[in-house]
Amino acid sequence: MNPFSYQRAGDIDEAVREAAAGGACFIAGGTNLLDLMKENVERPRRLIDISRLPLDQVEDTPEGGLRVGALVRNADLAMHPRVRDRYPLLSSALLAGASPQLRNMATTGGNLMQRTRCYYFYDTATACNKRAPGSGCGAIGGVTRIHAVLGASEHCIATHPSDMCVAMAALRATVNVTGPEGARAIPFGDFHRLPGNAPQRDNCLAPGELITSVDLPPEGFASHYSYLKIRDRLSYAFALVSVAAALRIEDGRIAQARVALGGVAHKPWRVASAEQLLEGRHPGEEIFLRCADALLHGAKGQGGNDFKISLARRAIARALGQAADGTPQRQFDKRIA
Ligand code: SF4
Repeated sequence: MNPFSYQRAGDIDEAVREAAAGGACFIAGGTNLLDLMKENVERPRRLIDISRLPLDQVEDTPEGGLRVGALVRNADLAMHPRVRDRYPLLSSALLAGASPQLRNMATTGGNLMQRTRCYYFYDTATACNKRAPGSGCGAIGGVTRIHAVLGASEHCIATHPSDMCVAMAALRATVNVTGPEGARAIPFGDFHRLPGNAPQRDNCLAPGELITSVDLPPEGFASHYSYLKIRDRLSYAFALVSVAAALRIEDGRIAQARVALGGVAHKPWRVASAEQLLEGRHPGEEIFLRCADALLHGAKGQGGNDFKISLARRAIARALGQAADGTPQRQFDKRIA
């Protein structure tokens, strides 16, 4: 590990001011950043500890939604009564992630900022455009079981590892940030980037910008939802494919639909036209598979991850079926035969 300085920010303005000076990383739970520093993947010169800032509340918004402070721990958010009642899709996704110990430390803002688990990104003996821009991509032509089948580029085929973010994408949350140029609100779908020719940038944050909260809109799809996570083992593993499905059903027809995928792209994957296919229709396998095909349009495997395309197709149909049934299940009941 390289030498670095440490300071605790007394308020948000101080945190932003210090970060804008360059060479700094914010640290709160540290569940990803410290690993990356130990592996020499991240080498900040300064750490700015934001863990004592007053950003740890869950509050109602005037619009009828919920504002989640950036420092709310993943475990606290999953178990918060208003989240469990009104946004059980989010609660379910959070509980599918990591381990209880990690969820006790990891924060909402940190979850958005976590980096890919691509093996080559962590192995500093290999080429990686995300870690060292211009060095190449060790994954292309390598072991690709966990890599992207959608939205990848010739420069990077990494996936985003979060479960929480997949649910937030489906819920169409908003990310609130503040920085040297002031505060702004970013639609969730615009927060994370596809790799393109700059895979070193995971998101659209400008230098020095700090996530302060995430807003959930009033519609939580609490009656018809499912977060289905397919992974190599049933706990403490990242998704090979995950599906956040949320439906509003009126008079037997789908009035509103949301579907987001995890484990398949550099960001939570949504296709608005695929959701629109469902709206106005009676729930059923045929329309669910059509939605899956629209979501997966253009999917391309790298050899070792070709299986993800058919797996995702079946997982989407199953998650939508679970959501339509309105009988959400524990993760342990969600094996795909
Ligand atoms: Fe690096 Fe992306 Fe290639 Fe992985 S897929 S080695 S993160 S450039």
